[in-house]
Amino acid sequence: MNLLEALQSTVGATHVLTGPDAAPFLTDWRGRYKGQAIAVVRPADTEQVAQVVRLCAQQNVPVVPQGGNTGLVGGATPDESGRAVVISLSRMNRVRSVDTDNDTLTVEAGCILQTVQETARNANRLFPLSLAAEGSCTIGGNLATNAGGTQVLRYGNTRDLTLGLEVVTPQGEIWNGLRGLRKDNTGYDLRDLYVGSEGTLGIITAATLKLYPLPVARCTALLALDSVPAAVALLSRARTGFGASLTGFELMSAACLELVTRHYPQQRLPLAGPVEQHGWYALLELSDSESETHARERFEAVLGAALEDGLVQDAAIAENLAQSHALWHLRESIPLAQAEEGKNIKHDVSIPISRIADFVATTDDLLQQHFPGVRNITFGHLGDGNLHYNVQGPIGEAEPALLARQDDIYQLVHDSVHAFDGSISAEHGVGQLKRDELTRYKSPIELQLMQRIKMALDPQGIMNPGKTLQDATHI
Ligand SMILES: Cc1cc2nc3c(=O)[nH]c(=O)nc-3n(C[C@H](O)[C@H](O)[C@H](O)COP(=O)(O)OP(=O)(O)OC[C@H]3O[C@@H](n4cnc5c(N)ncnc54)[C@H](O)[C@@H]3O)c2cc1C
Repeated sequence: MNLLEALQSTVGATHVLTGPDAAPFLTDWRGRYKGQAIAVVRPADTEQVAQVVRLCAQQNVPVVPQGGNTGLVGGATPDESGRAVVISLSRMNRVRSVDTDNDTLTVEAGCILQTVQETARNANRLFPLSLAAEGSCTIGGNLATNAGGTQVLRYGNTRDLTLGLEVVTPQGEIWNGLRGLRKDNTGYDLRDLYVGSEGTLGIITAATLKLYPLPVARCTALLALDSVPAAVALLSRARTGFGASLTGFELMSAACLELVTRHYPQQRLPLAGPVEQHGWYALLELSDSESETHARERFEAVLGAALEDGLVQDAAIAENLAQSHALWHLRESIPLAQAEEGKNIKHDVSIPISRIADFVATTDDLLQQHFPGVRNITFGHLGDGNLHYNVQGPIGEAEPALLARQDDIYQLVHDSVHAFDGSISAEHGVGQLKRDELTRYKSPIELQLMQRIKMALDPQGIMNPGKTLQDATHI
């Protein structure tokens, strides 16, 4: 039996896709990478994943795990050699258990994030991970990339929301680490190793996740600001004023919201005057466990004082859930509006919050000196020090001209991030996009330690090769 036949007999012929059926799985969300594969295999359960991995390991065939394929760094796309098998977890979408006494939820890796959130809500609990791709991305992909999103400020990123994992190793063994424990100091933390490993160390097949109480009330506001320093000062006030109730603090430049309102004219800012009237906007959210009235009083007191002191230029507070959703929709439409505008160069970076204003001013200047006319589309999770510092070409310039300068722009921005003690990947991971960049900014010892872990767990180098690290087998 050849590999294709063996795969078909393992998962069923209808779940081994080739030719045009496989095509959507072989390109990434941004259309930047196109790969080839022997087949896309869609196992039904953990045992089938393990069998597929064993078959591939026997023939030294690379394996590329894939969830919702919404990743932004090409991590789920195979290379062009056509040697790999893509393992899509999309059929593994069952909720295994909900434990409200332990405040945990155990789900399979292919569960769509939105389904996980809804399952929690149906149990009167909150699963706080939230990002614009939540209708398509899977919890397995979120874990593999240690996804962030809009509530990290209060609840942490995916790693912080995870108690246990079930993983298929590169040898096709099954590790059941689905522990619902908040304390477990029994040696190396394998869970933390697999979270954020981008499919290079094993395939996550299920996870036990933390649940939280549902907030009783939420207040959301869109605030107009003069500058990034004003936003940083406002964040500091909001932290002091709201404490742990501050669940969102998003920063958006006027250029971002101009793109959204131009490409989606049905979306409007609930503030007087044109978008460009103010340089920056913040979207702020407070979640309260007491009451609607308590939430509003706190919210209005802090924002009122910020307006009086001139820190905030204008404010729109959502009156109801629909208005709150409309404000979040503005924020979440930025990546889509950017895609409508054309290809752009994305930088998902983090900087110590106290240095963000300096970073933006310095890097904006450097970009204009070296690439006159490029447009900054800067937004992000200011509360986490995470900026999406994206660069669009000058108005009227053809896309290829921008892409031809891509590597130089990456280097300029990432050098600046490094100079400000930041990270060149805050939440999207490394994938293939930033793999080579990593060697410029991580110390040789840090890279070697990562390579040694990869070699120890995946000595054949079959698990998502070419992602995160340069070829580990040559070390
Ligand atoms: C509009 C939009 C907005 C976004 N906003 C955010 C944001 O706010 N914050 C953020 O962090 N990200 C964001 N992303 C990026 C993306 O949604 C996340 O990286 C998400 O976690 C990827 O999940 P996925 O299921 O689509 O994974 P995929 O894209 O399928 O895979 C991503 C990586 O994980 C690996 N992988 C997938 N499943 C598994 C598994 N079961 N086991 C092992 N490895 C696996 C893949 O090999 C690949 O390396 C956004 C993307 C889009 C398109």
